[in-house]
Amino acid sequence: MPTIIDGKAISTAIKDELKKEVADRNIKATLAVIQVGNDPASTVYVGNKKKACAYIGIGSKSYELPEETTEEDLLGLIDDLNKDDEISGILVQLPVPKHINEKKITAAISPLKDVDGFHPESVGRLCIGQEGFVSCTPAGIIELLKRTGVEIEGKECVVIGRSNIVGKPMALLMLANNATVTVCHSRTKDLAGICKRADILIAAVGKPKMITSEYVKEGAVVIDVGIHRMENGKLCGDVDYDDVYEHTSAITPVPGGVGPMTIAMLMVNCVKAAAWEK
Ligand code: NAD
Repeated sequence: MPTIIDGKAISTAIKDELKKEVADRNIKATLAVIQVGNDPASTVYVGNKKKACAYIGIGSKSYELPEETTEEDLLGLIDDLNKDDEISGILVQLPVPKHINEKKITAAISPLKDVDGFHPESVGRLCIGQEGFVSCTPAGIIELLKRTGVEIEGKECVVIGRSNIVGKPMALLMLANNATVTVCHSRTKDLAGICKRADILIAAVGKPKMITSEYVKEGAVVIDVGIHRMENGKLCGDVDYDDVYEHTSAITPVPGGVGPMTIAMLMVNCVKAAAWEK
């Protein structure tokens, strides 16, 4: 029987470990969470992040800015927070409104407080194997694999997707863990043929149920990063779970797989930020 990788249980275990560490080591940390505008999905994500901070015993400060906030004002706030010793981590909830340049915002956050791991310096550190903040979703996938006992070293890994926040850092992390990595994207030829080689297949393609059993080698580990709301209101991933399940040795469900890990790894980064020499 394939293992259903329980991201909810693993994320709870991580948060409980952090809660203990924060209490035992008397760690003082405060996460600044900036939201520009009031996109309902962003409001839910921000709320969940603040709840997770409270759960593990660190502070959070909210900055809810109006939609019409200028780029200059947002950069000014980030600059103030960069200099504020009480703030250990800074997060700007993405996406920001169109009149604000996301790249500029990401690069303005001090790399020492970059708990999302999106700053070019963080990405560079990941690339050359230096200690730094790692993008939360791919870091969470490594934890899922390790805590499920999936061996990564020497395995053939195929990542579908090359976005800056999932696909690329995912490929770098698998490489750092000694997998042999192939990255596929929208221009890849014979996608199914390449995926079928994978011992570990990671789908971050953003297309509901695209990955069917045709893409999966018998006994592969399948990690589904996608999240989509179907017409019936239920959630599904990039993987056609019902079709693929019996061909895998382990698989993440949607919901309850990769999703809960993102916030758990954000909390890991917040605790790390508190200890980071400023
Ligand atoms: P994205 O749209 O930025 O990137 C998608 C990637 O898939 C691109 O690199 C593109 O080249 C590739 N792609 C698109 N169509 C393809 C095709 N037909 N064949 C092969 N490759 C193709 O998306 P993203 O931000 O990387 O997110 C991917 C998915 O993961 C989305 O469904 C998103 O909602 C989800 N996501 C989940 C979490 C989480 O916490 N679980 C976090 C981030 C993203």
